[in-house]
Amino acid sequence: MSFKLDDVQETDRGLLAPCGILCLGCDSYIGEGLDAAEELKKIWEGSNIIDVGPMLGLNAKGITETFKSLNAFIKAGKKQGKCPGCYVGGGPSKICGIANCVKSKGYWTCAECGDYDPDSEKPCPLEKEVPMPLGNPSQMMKMICTRYSKDTNNNLKKCREIGYAAFIKEAKKKVAKGWRTWQVISDEMVFTNSMKK
Ligand code: SF4
Ligand code: SF4
Repeated sequence: MSFKLDDVQETDRGLLAPCGILCLGCDSYIGEGLDAAEELKKIWEGSNIIDVGPMLGLNAKGITETFKSLNAFIKAGKKQGKCPGCYVGGGPSKICGIANCVKSKGYWTCAECGDYDPDSEKPCPLEKEVPMPLGNPSQMMKMICTRYSKDTNNNLKKCREIGYAAFIKEAKKKVAKGWRTWQVISDEMVFTNSMKK
């Protein structure tokens, strides 16, 4: 199966990240979380939730803290704007070892790399001595596989099986039907724990 960067239209390059995250279904790309936060804030403020919250089992302190979190989330979301997708410069791609490695080889994703083994415990073998865990491709790949419950590996395997063009077509249909990337995210504290080391 032929698959290479040239097979991917310029306008589709933000849809799949080099590591296999489907940016097309990611909330930073879609922005539904921001819309929902603004809607909840509007409804709670309009309902004077602090007044009636205790009848629903909510306490005033908890409501105030939630408003603070919603405001911070809304402010950050508006400041950052929607993410265009990792490959075209979204998220932490500048400091990510995977994104940098993939781009340096002229690939779109790791699926094109002969060293990438989606069925291995260590899908990317490339170790790099770097101060931040995000910069080490092998370690980053392990974190991503855990956080995304191996959905990333499955995406890249699929790219190998059917090629990029068909993969993108299927992914667009899946997201249009309601699939979202957050549905596969693990409850493990993957990044928090890796930053402590
Ligand atoms: S920054 Fe790295 S880990 Fe994040 S989506 Fe891009 S390639 Fe994947
Ligand atoms: S060495 Fe690792 S990060 Fe680089 S392209 Fe291959 S699998 Fe991806």
